Amino acid sequence: MVRFTVLASGSRGNSTVLSGGRTRILVDAGLSCRELFRRMRLAGEDPATLNAIVITHEHQDHVNGLAVTARKLGIPVYFTEGTHRAWMRWLSPRRQMSYAQWLEMVRKQAAERQAEPESEVLEIDPPDDLNQDSPDEMAVENWVQTAPTSSDPAPESVLEPPCEPAPDPASGRPPLVKDDPTWLPAVEYFRSGQPFSIGDICISPFTIPHDAADPVGFVFSSEGVRLGFATDLGYIPPNVKEQLRDLDLLLLESNHDLEMLRDGPYPWQVKQRVLSRVGHLSNDAASAFLSEDYDGQAAYIILGHLSENNNLPELARVAAERALLGRASLLANRLQLAAQHEPLSAISF
Ligand SMILES: [Zn+2]
Ligand SMILES: [Zn+2]
Repeated sequence: MVRFTVLASGSRGNSTVLSGGRTRILVDAGLSCRELFRRMRLAGEDPATLNAIVITHEHQDHVNGLAVTARKLGIPVYFTEGTHRAWMRWLSPRRQMSYAQWLEMVRKQAAERQAEPESEVLEIDPPDDLNQDSPDEMAVENWVQTAPTSSDPAPESVLEPPCEPAPDPASGRPPLVKDDPTWLPAVEYFRSGQPFSIGDICISPFTIPHDAADPVGFVFSSEGVRLGFATDLGYIPPNVKEQLRDLDLLLLESNHDLEMLRDGPYPWQVKQRVLSRVGHLSNDAASAFLSEDYDGQAAYIILGHLSENNNLPELARVAAERALLGRASLLANRLQLAAQHEPLSAISF
């Protein structure tokens, strides 16, 4: 059986559980480890059975609980190399370092660990300049993440201590997380355009236009079921349209209503960024795809990454329903809206 459960979708956190055959993966980890586990249990999924985490891009709402969750479960994280580097730069306390300098630092720290077998630093201390995000700041999509500065709030993965790290398989000792906030149990790289497999799930990553280092969407396939995953994209270019065909399920961004965004509370620059070709997909843009390019094959369409400030679920739904008029294959109850604050019911094939 193939099962798809959106745990959260929106600018305050994104995460989805997908299982196929004997394999279960988490796509993005944008909530805290604790909240991810809570929502998984709520959705009837056991966190302990996850095999891997796959990341679309490094924006905070997609990686907030990544390090803690991966350590807690001792499972590998799949990134593109560009996304992994960007994530490490974001987490690194010395943000002015080059990647080469950072690698050197990590090597040094590893050598020091070897030399100090008695060391045991388990918990992560918050940095002195810690500022908690206000909800409103969080809601300015991923704006702050595109240009990190020394005053950026520290990411939650550095702040949250409740999930202790798994032991280093080589030494059997816990990793010195205090020294290396980017430590993960295992990292695997994939490349856009090059399909790969995790257990029984085949994954085809494709490039999407978004202001991140190397952002991707995915088509997952397992047991003959194909699921498309495309959020966080400024527009839908031909290569993405090409990917979003012959699907059984499509998760598509429907981020904002253009008028609400234009008249809304965001600063001008943020509005420009959201509207740009590397920003987020509007209800109109999602609808244009559904009416003009979509092949009508999917049994389910889920609208996701809805802005809480610049959209209303009903506006997104009505726009998509209008676009799908005449698509007899898509019953009304098969157009769904993913929510920010609670999991969507699991969809099974
Ligand atoms: Zn996002
Ligand atoms: Zn993003």
